[in-house]
Amino acid sequence: VLNQYLAELQGNINVSFEFFPPRTDEMEQILWKTINKLSKLNPIFVSVTYSAHSGTRNYTDKTIKDIKKRTGLIAAPHLTCINETPQALQTIAQEYWNNGIHNIVALRGDQIKKNYQSSMYASDLVYLLKKIGNFDIAVAAYPEVHPEAKNAQSDLINLKKKIDAGANRAITQFFFDVEQYLRFRDLCVSVGIDIEIIPGILPIFNFRQLQHFITFTKVKIPHWIYVIFHGLDHDLETQKMLGTFVAIDMIRVLLKEGVRNFHFYTLNRSDLTYAICHTLGIKNNKI
Ligand code: FAD
Repeated sequence: VLNQYLAELQGNINVSFEFFPPRTDEMEQILWKTINKLSKLNPIFVSVTYSAHSGTRNYTDKTIKDIKKRTGLIAAPHLTCINETPQALQTIAQEYWNNGIHNIVALRGDQIKKNYQSSMYASDLVYLLKKIGNFDIAVAAYPEVHPEAKNAQSDLINLKKKIDAGANRAITQFFFDVEQYLRFRDLCVSVGIDIEIIPGILPIFNFRQLQHFITFTKVKIPHWIYVIFHGLDHDLETQKMLGTFVAIDMIRVLLKEGVRNFHFYTLNRSDLTYAICHTLGIKNNKI
């Protein structure tokens, strides 16, 4: 039944992939192996993160330029505003626009100090970018609420501000509770958010690392996921297989609920994401 269902969807499912910029030659080789494999799946775009506070955009910008040149894919840099002046952001944005980089993932960036007050929110950045050029802008959304938000309602209103400022789509924080994503999507509709809320999928390949990742988020791991990964701390091979299964299981429900776009946090690995896409009918047809 699933096969028949997927056959009907052929061509209607879009994927995008997120990478982080490599800092060493070895990491660069791993990234390119990954890009070479995943680019064959025709993602609608790929994005490259930028670590706010790192103080250098070079790694992100070089990776974006290389991806565009070597693959022809649409490549979107992540841009954060937490530690930047509006003038500096205008200069960066103008350079992107002039160099044909017209897709951006616009973010505030994480606070490094508690109670540090950013002078700009992501909505301000979206507004600034749209004044420079008609960028295609993705922003972040949090089905389980951003950790600093006063409450779910105010977080939703703040998401709406980003859309009202001109964002074209939202990509969610990764999640494992599909019902929560679906409730969140309904809430977005109820406050008049009419852009796509693209689920961010993080295929689990190291459960212990994931538990560390979620420390500063409000992401919850359902009990059944704890149960299936229990006892596998030293068996990453089996964890990879289960991680693939978990993501496919989530996506199967999302597809039934009408979701057609999926953004993958690849962490610069191709193996799990490639396998998951294959089950969606997104294949390398050149083989
Ligand atoms: P905002 O939308 O500005 O929201 C931040 C907080 O402020 C929220 O709690 C919100 O409710 C609140 N808020 C917003 N507007 C207002 C207002 N007007 N008044 C009062 N409160 C307000 N981080 C990186 O450093 N580099 C990356 O490359 C990166 N990529 C990411 C990609 C995705 C898809 C996601 C989901 C997150 C990413 N992050 C990245 C993390 C992100 O920077 C953090 O989650 C950050 O803490 C919030 O960023 P934001 O863009 O959601 O901020």
